[in-house]
Amino acid sequence: MSNHSSLQDRYGRKINYLRLSVTDRCDFRCAYCMAEKMQFLPRDEILSLEECLFIAKVFVALGVDKIRLSGGEPLVRKDFPWLVARMRKLDGLRELVLSSNGSQLVQFAVPLKLAGVDRINISLDSLNPDVFHRLTRTGNLHQVLAGIDAAITVFGSTSIKMNTVMLHDSNHAELPAMLEFALARKIDISFIELMPMGETGHHYATSFYSSADALAQLRQHHTLIPSVETSGGPARYWRIAGHESRIGFISPHSQNFCADCNRMRVTARGELFPCLGNEGMVDLLPAVRAGDEAGVRDLILQAVADKPEAHEFDLSQPGTHIMRFMSRTGG
Ligand code: SAM
Ligand code: SF4
Repeated sequence: MSNHSSLQDRYGRKINYLRLSVTDRCDFRCAYCMAEKMQFLPRDEILSLEECLFIAKVFVALGVDKIRLSGGEPLVRKDFPWLVARMRKLDGLRELVLSSNGSQLVQFAVPLKLAGVDRINISLDSLNPDVFHRLTRTGNLHQVLAGIDAAITVFGSTSIKMNTVMLHDSNHAELPAMLEFALARKIDISFIELMPMGETGHHYATSFYSSADALAQLRQHHTLIPSVETSGGPARYWRIAGHESRIGFISPHSQNFCADCNRMRVTARGELFPCLGNEGMVDLLPAVRAGDEAGVRDLILQAVADKPEAHEFDLSQPGTHIMRFMSRTGG
């Protein structure tokens, strides 16, 4: 993938990818992502859609050519397609993509396509309605399955990817079935290693399930062939002869991918995190609220200069957590 960004950190990595969280709110409460009783940001601290657009514009002017809109659940944000349509028009933006839990895609697939979303990653951790409900605390599996099928109809299977967090004793026995689900729909699937984030009450160390274990499990059903393909992200891909889906593994613990990192994250409160797995942050909000474009640009350059070499996730030491919730950081 081409990367002509002018943003380069001190380790020589070019930053061309922004993940922007448009809300910290969500209609689900996934056990590994949120606490059961979540304290959400006060509404007046959340970026307005115009402020989201302003931030995107400054990043794109600096050479970022891919933006992922995330959350929380982006589709619970009122007038979200309005933002997509405006962002899509930014000169220099090559790809505008979305992460969603799928719960509202029956309703939103067409408006999002019309507004200019290129691709959607949809999270799905179980095909068992009871396990799904337990994991998401509020989610309805059938609604999400209908959302996935609506998205495939509207966007085409090559523009839809499934994301599955691997959880020992919760969904790990189901991983072969999740793979079959993706293969049958000709969509890509990424299996994600759990990351310890936020005071969710979730037991990260005991529910961790590694990519290596999942791969060994899937190999009992299929011959997986390593692929050199990349989507410009941290996933390592595999293929199965006779199938169109790519099978990705995102392995922050077992296969550190930091050397190739090309991204930065902005939270729904305008905090710029140069690394998902570090606490370092640059607050863009005051400069954004002042409409100070040069100020925002300088803060972004400062954050790029300070981007850490590698994440600090550590499951081996109990309590070693990144303290902010994934739902605030934008996954
Ligand atoms: N609500 C949307 C969704 O679920 O796709 C977008 C936001 S969500 C925070 C983005 C991704 O982060 C999801 O695929 C979710 O499963 C993943 N995620 C959340 N908490 C995680 C954790 N602690 N470790 C690994 N992945 C996590
Ligand atoms: Fe919501 Fe996505 Fe977090 Fe689940 S993973 S609680 S759907 S933000």
